[in-house]
Amino acid sequence: MSFARAVFVTMTAAAGLLCGGCAHHESAAASATGRISDEASHHEDGMHPYVASASDPAWLRKASEFHGHLGPWSTIGTLLGRDAAARLGGPGAWDIRVVCWTPPAKRKPPFSCIMDGLPCGSGATMGKRNIGFAWENGRDPAERPEVYIAKAGPDGRLSRGFSYRVSQRLLGELQAAVAAGTLESFSRRLAGMRSDELFDIRPLTDAQLARSAELLAAGVSD
Ligand SMILES: [Zn+2]
Repeated sequence: MSFARAVFVTMTAAAGLLCGGCAHHESAAASATGRISDEASHHEDGMHPYVASASDPAWLRKASEFHGHLGPWSTIGTLLGRDAAARLGGPGAWDIRVVCWTPPAKRKPPFSCIMDGLPCGSGATMGKRNIGFAWENGRDPAERPEVYIAKAGPDGRLSRGFSYRVSQRLLGELQAAVAAGTLESFSRRLAGMRSDELFDIRPLTDAQLARSAELLAAGVSD
């Protein structure tokens, strides 16, 4: 498979797209077919600035305070990062690498909210330059977001990692929550679900590890 062009942007470039508690953006739909819709239905009563509930685990509280509200994509990013950090041996900080494959047209809320959850869960951050969006020709622009999370060895090479896609089940339930305007309670329910219920998780191949390293090293900006 060859790619004519790869696009990689760091969170710095994406920062202007991220939300800070705005009311409407979490309502874009994800269809049960696995394709994410550009259409944003408006359930503005469902998204408020974050107010902690006594039942919120500490990690959800931290992520929601950082993000500004409690939403599904930021929660998905946090859960996914936490799962990867656990599989790869603890919060990665400097040695973790995160590539979020997202079409340029979808680098906006609600989908881009995942980029506020991923640092909270994985330890990769904009400041350390070990997280970014990427896209390459040949990928289906309507596909589910995919996240590669890998760990670098002492020599800096990416030794192992995992790819994550949200599961069909999760997409279907997200669509129902959008329709019902229950995104906050849905996000809280996600926090109690198992990773294998939420995500399709696969080990990264050597080619995927190499591509991740290449993109993060290059930091090509569009
Ligand atoms: Zn959000």
